[in-house]
Amino acid sequence: MKDIVCKLLIIGAGPGGYVCAIRAAQLGVDTAIVDMARPGGTCLNIGCIPSKALIHAADEFYRTVAMAAGGNPMGIRAEGPSIDLKTAMAWKDGITGRLTLGVSALMKKAGVKVVVGEARFRDGKTVDVETETGRQVIRAESIVIATGSAPAELPGLPFGGPVLSSTEALSLEAVPPRLAVVGAGYIGLELGTAFAKLGSKVTIVEAFDRILPVYDQQLTQPVAKRLASLGVDLLLDTKVKGLSGDGHGLQVEDAGGQQREIAADRILVTIGRRPRTQGWGRDELELDMEGRYVRIDNPCRTSMRGIYAIGDVTGEPMLAHRAMAQGEMVAEIVAGRRRAWDKRVIPAVCFTDPEIVSAGLSPEEARAAGHEVITGMFPLAANGRAMTLAAEEGFVRVVARADNHLVLGVQAVGAGVSELSAGFALAIEMGARLEDVAGTTHAHPTLSEGFAEASMKALGHALHI
Ligand SMILES: Cc1cc2nc3c(=O)[nH]c(=O)nc-3n(C[C@H](O)[C@H](O)[C@H](O)COP(=O)(O)OP(=O)(O)OC[C@H]3O[C@@H](n4cnc5c(N)ncnc54)[C@H](O)[C@@H]3O)c2cc1C
Repeated sequence: MKDIVCKLLIIGAGPGGYVCAIRAAQLGVDTAIVDMARPGGTCLNIGCIPSKALIHAADEFYRTVAMAAGGNPMGIRAEGPSIDLKTAMAWKDGITGRLTLGVSALMKKAGVKVVVGEARFRDGKTVDVETETGRQVIRAESIVIATGSAPAELPGLPFGGPVLSSTEALSLEAVPPRLAVVGAGYIGLELGTAFAKLGSKVTIVEAFDRILPVYDQQLTQPVAKRLASLGVDLLLDTKVKGLSGDGHGLQVEDAGGQQREIAADRILVTIGRRPRTQGWGRDELELDMEGRYVRIDNPCRTSMRGIYAIGDVTGEPMLAHRAMAQGEMVAEIVAGRRRAWDKRVIPAVCFTDPEIVSAGLSPEEARAAGHEVITGMFPLAANGRAMTLAAEEGFVRVVARADNHLVLGVQAVGAGVSELSAGFALAIEMGARLEDVAGTTHAHPTLSEGFAEASMKALGHALHI
């Protein structure tokens, strides 16, 4: 096989890698990309997109159940629903299939060379790719490591049999009657909630004393309340000891040392993700590491000249839109443009029930960073749109500097608030003051009015509370 010689080679076609490839090729850079799996990476194939499809299917199902039970105030009645999870999964696979085909088409249109196979560094400028038809050698001036991450295993509870990672959970063909979820981070809660709505008896085990420990309790409280109303058992301050003797459950221990067994047909382990730093020949390089991650500087350069790293392999927040933004920046740098990582904010969304959005600093984080802050909170119970959606739980909260009213952070919890994340991020990125947000006419009736009202509240003159 003839060697490929190019200016830029990207290892991994997840959101970081494929965006980098498309942008570089658009700018005229001779670009190749390698992936051993379908393009789109974790996000499109086994992460963001399939999980949101399952969450939506579960929401539709649950709404129908609630209506069938006559428990809704709109007067709607329906016959008892049922779900064929195999069909729902096929629908989900159709979405991921269309998206990954779309990514392939975009790369082709931009002129990117796509090589399918497992890549391994031979040296800092040369990569061997094991393809179906033999070894392909690729030589490049610049190489981007975009190898992403994989689900982390719990010692003593390896994946296999009844123990699932998010990947297997997103391909189940039947709803497990009893599901134990280990880890109350966003992936465990998103999937645990979806299966609870589909009819599983869900138990969530969390070693920490609260769910979603990276968010403040004011934001997570509505989610905890909802889990309780769905009948989910939440075992906080509880550690997993291993599988129970017969393999059909979990042995757990609470903070007081009390042990008990949780019966479960499936055990979903979502204790986090590990960066994929093995399997691509790191030993052949002299890369500095930062803990578990590949160390990068502001423009995503590693410690070796000409080698960049982006996305989950470089650390938190492990989010698709961070990987994409890094990929776009690195492509422009390789193309000779002057770029730096100058983002003020990377918003984060939990597609829990209700949804949580966090952009920028929470009140505690702002104070810890030395700011004197003012905050404003607007409850969705006072928002007309939330009422019409029968989803009044939640609020929008804005955090600003007390002296000049610069918006430092915006958080929200409520049904559908994920769509507000763009407005929150834009305000912070553009250096908006509370007066700018309050003075922007927000369309009525929308949840976004909560952002303007929270800003007015911080200024001392909310209109609707
Ligand atoms: C269940 C779940 C839900 C999620 N939901 C969200 C969400 O709602 N929003 C969000 O922002 N993020 C979400 N994420 C996280 C998101 O998927 C990741 O942050 C994102 O995919 C990281 O992109 P990446 O390009 O760094 O790596 P990845 O998407 O992991 O892609 C890495 C690619 O590299 C390839 N690769 C690795 N090693 C080699 C090699 N040696 N040779 C060739 N190819 C190789 C892999 O096959 C893979 O395709 C979710 C993740 C999961 C698991």
